[in-house]
Amino acid sequence: MKILLLGPPGGGKGTQAKYLINRLNIPQISTGDMLREHVNNKTDLGLKAKEYMSAGALVPDEVILGMMKGRLVDKDCNNGYILDGFPRTIPQAEGLDLLLEELDQKIDLIIVIKVKDDNIVERMGGRRVHPSSGRIYHIKYNPPKNEGKDDQTGEELIIRDDDQENTVRKRLEIYHKETSPLIEYYKSRSRVCHIDGEQSIDQVSQSIDKILS
Ligand code: AMP
Repeated sequence: MKILLLGPPGGGKGTQAKYLINRLNIPQISTGDMLREHVNNKTDLGLKAKEYMSAGALVPDEVILGMMKGRLVDKDCNNGYILDGFPRTIPQAEGLDLLLEELDQKIDLIIVIKVKDDNIVERMGGRRVHPSSGRIYHIKYNPPKNEGKDDQTGEELIIRDDDQENTVRKRLEIYHKETSPLIEYYKSRSRVCHIDGEQSIDQVSQSIDKILS
């Protein structure tokens, strides 16, 4: 099954992608995680992407499409995948369509997670990340067992630059302008389902379960 998670930054896509990995046994493909790995490894792509990311801007479409091109043909994608944070613009969606056509594949399901802007700002301010695994916590909604520490490794959690409030507001503006038109784009191409992302994490997962069954 090939699933695309759509929704504002901080709307819970990453958290629900982790749920779906276990539920369906398919990998999560997060362009944000892939880019952060490039930034950590200081690759050419990472050095280029870093400026855009810390400013809350989108990394150029051609960079993203080049990075994705090799990923969908990896062996772990044979039974499907969960796209998280990609595509984010119409040109990216068109580029993805071309890639899928070459692979004779199709996205089966688009899940749109809806959350109001002010709730996003509150959520992201409390977000903490374990940099090496990408595990995400929230000081109020999903706290780690020990404050400031990753549950599995005990390592320090951090606040990402792009989770600062002014950056978050800018990212939301870009989401409404560039990414939300994808909902209309996919309506005629795939099954599009909307979910209330302001429920608890478990309730959102249950709503996804209902859609899947
Ligand atoms: P995320 O972890 O998905 O919120 O992504 C973090 C940042 O990476 C975004 O704010 C963008 O700067 C960049 N990014 C991730 N995915 C994309 C994409 N598909 N297109 C453009 N930029 C992206």
